[in-house]
Amino acid sequence: MHVPPFSLSEQLQQLGDALDQAVLEVLRSGQYIGGSTISGFEAAFAEACGVPHAIGCNSGTDALVLALRALGIGAGDEVITSSFSFFATAEAISAVGATPVFVDVDPDTYLIDPEGIEAAITPATRALMPVHLFGRPVDMERINAIASAHGLRVIEDCAQASGASWAGRPVGGWGDAGCFSFFPTKNLGAAGDGGMVVCADAGLAQRIRELAVHGMPRRYLHTDLGYNSRLDAMQAAVLMVKLPHLAGWVERRRAIAERYQRELAGLPGLVPAAPGPEGHSWNQFVVRVPRCPAATSACGGRCTPAADSASYGLPEACCRDWLKQQLQEAGVTTIIYYPIPIHRQPAYASLGYGPGSLPITERLCAEVLSLPIFPELSAAQQDSVIAAVRSLVGAEAVVA
Ligand SMILES: *Cc1c(COP(=O)(O)O)cnc(C)c1O
Repeated sequence: MHVPPFSLSEQLQQLGDALDQAVLEVLRSGQYIGGSTISGFEAAFAEACGVPHAIGCNSGTDALVLALRALGIGAGDEVITSSFSFFATAEAISAVGATPVFVDVDPDTYLIDPEGIEAAITPATRALMPVHLFGRPVDMERINAIASAHGLRVIEDCAQASGASWAGRPVGGWGDAGCFSFFPTKNLGAAGDGGMVVCADAGLAQRIRELAVHGMPRRYLHTDLGYNSRLDAMQAAVLMVKLPHLAGWVERRRAIAERYQRELAGLPGLVPAAPGPEGHSWNQFVVRVPRCPAATSACGGRCTPAADSASYGLPEACCRDWLKQQLQEAGVTTIIYYPIPIHRQPAYASLGYGPGSLPITERLCAEVLSLPIFPELSAAQQDSVIAAVRSLVGAEAVVA
């Protein structure tokens, strides 16, 4: 049996008729940009997040850019975030002319370390951008306490965390703005690109709305240099069909994550994702494969050091890469989120973060592996994943 890391085919089969109908309705309406399909989805999404305002846009990346711009963050400003994330988190900060300042992550949750934030604050710091990585919610009470003590804005990167909550309140509504992505592999995925900013402040919502349409508060009056970044009606129609299913899909992800945790616990050389807080939405289930020569390394001496990671000054990823390849041969496709941390990307060489500057982030990039997880992953497919991992690193593994 082949187990893919992600698949939409079951979901498309389930929702097929409703999706077809929703898309056809938009197609036949002729109203593709703006209109009630979009405002209807924005209202429904805002309600799901427990906030009064939601503004659709082109992508999660644009959502971050729009929120930063609308909050007045730009040249000379610093925004504190984590380097263990998708590149767009930092790229958005740079896109508005500000500078990303990276703080190391917690080794168990993989989320930004609040202690590190305090130490990184300078007179130029204007905002914090916590990332709810893999669907795991950041402690937003802690983040907001730091922000209010230092007069900082908070922009939540919720791209991987649709359906997640912290302390019973949905993510996105804790900060000044929450930014979501509807990229197809996220928990709530469009049939293409899409994004959303949610916020509580009506003035901020209005600024975001204007910036997203060429800085244009009314037709052909331009008070700012903005963007062309809209969620289109076709995507809004698809997302409206899917939104009512989100909570159930997150429940399924949670059940799969709990099963992985149970059945992959205690294996030598493998560290499954830490149990989540209740509001974890499990966009990814990530295991860590500590590298050899640890006495209990997963490979048991069977791996060969790879040349590639060394060129970025990163720790050796041989055991993780070995396990990934072995699982592939067993029919289980896994993905590495992320092999190179943002601060070590060639595009950010000018920021001057050398090897070892964020040691936990760098070690995680050498050790993490995402196992297949999506709501429709069948029990038989889960069995295959668990059996393959156990036979490679578990008690049954034959170590050379
Ligand atoms: C996907 C993602 C983004 C960007 O979203 P797009 O819709 O692809 O532009 C930003 N941040 C994180 C953490 C992401 O995973």
